[in-house]
Amino acid sequence: MQLFEQQLQQLKQANQIRQIPPLVHDGAFIYKENQKMLNLSGNDYLGLSYKRDLQQEFLALHSDNLPLFSSTSSRLLTGNSPEYQHLEESMALAFDRESCLLFNTGYHANIGIIPALSDENTLIISDQLIHASLIDGIRLSKATRLRFAHNDYEQLQQLLEENQHHYHLILIVTESVFSMDGDHADLTQLVNIKKQYPNTLLYVDEAHAIGVYGQNGLGLAEEQGCIADIDLLVGTFGKAMASVGAYLISSQLIRDTLINKMRPLIFSTALPPLNIAWTHFIFNKLPKLQTQRQHLAHISAYLRTVFAEQFHLPMPSQSCIVPYIVGDNQKAIALAHALQQQGYYCLPIRPPTVPKGTARIRFSLNADMQQDTLDLLIHVLKGLNNA
Ligand SMILES: *Cc1c(COP(=O)(O)O)cnc(C)c1O
Repeated sequence: MQLFEQQLQQLKQANQIRQIPPLVHDGAFIYKENQKMLNLSGNDYLGLSYKRDLQQEFLALHSDNLPLFSSTSSRLLTGNSPEYQHLEESMALAFDRESCLLFNTGYHANIGIIPALSDENTLIISDQLIHASLIDGIRLSKATRLRFAHNDYEQLQQLLEENQHHYHLILIVTESVFSMDGDHADLTQLVNIKKQYPNTLLYVDEAHAIGVYGQNGLGLAEEQGCIADIDLLVGTFGKAMASVGAYLISSQLIRDTLINKMRPLIFSTALPPLNIAWTHFIFNKLPKLQTQRQHLAHISAYLRTVFAEQFHLPMPSQSCIVPYIVGDNQKAIALAHALQQQGYYCLPIRPPTVPKGTARIRFSLNADMQQDTLDLLIHVLKGLNNA
């Protein structure tokens, strides 16, 4: 089809063409075309995905009775089994909330929950920088959508004032740690705001925070002490938890509603019980990883400070996602390429993933990295800047 060829050609010309890179993994490293590189682009913030001892411990635990490798159906038909129920019970207990519901991915969660809870009389007010899966969920819903500028809670409050009487439900939607700038939402403030308005629910996506924040690794809501007040607390198992799937922490009423109305839950085969058991195994480990979380926070603060003070870069981040914002698409591509040649697996992040003129390298750190690794990276970046 000529149409598609033209479209791809345009993407190429704009330096926006996407490809699936051929990769082989080796612990914290990646091989691409036989070049060994430190993985600085993953979401494996605690380095759990490549810990062979964890895999062995898990397999030994289940050696006589390995969970099934497929569920062969939605949980509403024949796909349910004790693994799901056990994990949901453990998570509801750990979060000290009424209920937990599991999903196949974070993407499924976001495109399913939002439409299931919305109708024509719903207003969704979302942060401008939310993840594509949340945007798609809003688009699939029948709700009206308004946006507030990133983390601008004055504007949020103004939108609530203007619209509170025109809808029977208002959903405020945000991430807790934003995936491209690495900055935080102020969940305590959001809770205070939403409590001022009747029929208003707060929806928070903790994709980049579960495992990484809080005394027990339950996320930024735990760190900020507001788990009890977030109506819909969502997260994925595919990042720091080194598994696959997603969860919602909520009231029993919301859980029951979703079981009746959420299409990706009703009409898709549930994850293999094996994956659920692995997620449960990792979830049980989270409280014991406080040293790793503290180390990650420490090295992340170090890199952010160097980028801000020595490289004079804008530094929105408050997390282990550390953007190196160069602005121009071509510049970001060239820098990523040069870093790869020096043994760092870094990727250029360009519009439309980030706003125009803010193309960047997104460094994502993990708890196995040491400060001297970062010092070497900083040295290489300085050399590339002077070249
Ligand atoms: C990665 C991500 C998702 C999607 O989660 P998956 O489990 O990978 O589908 C959802 N929301 C945010 C904010 C994310 O970063």
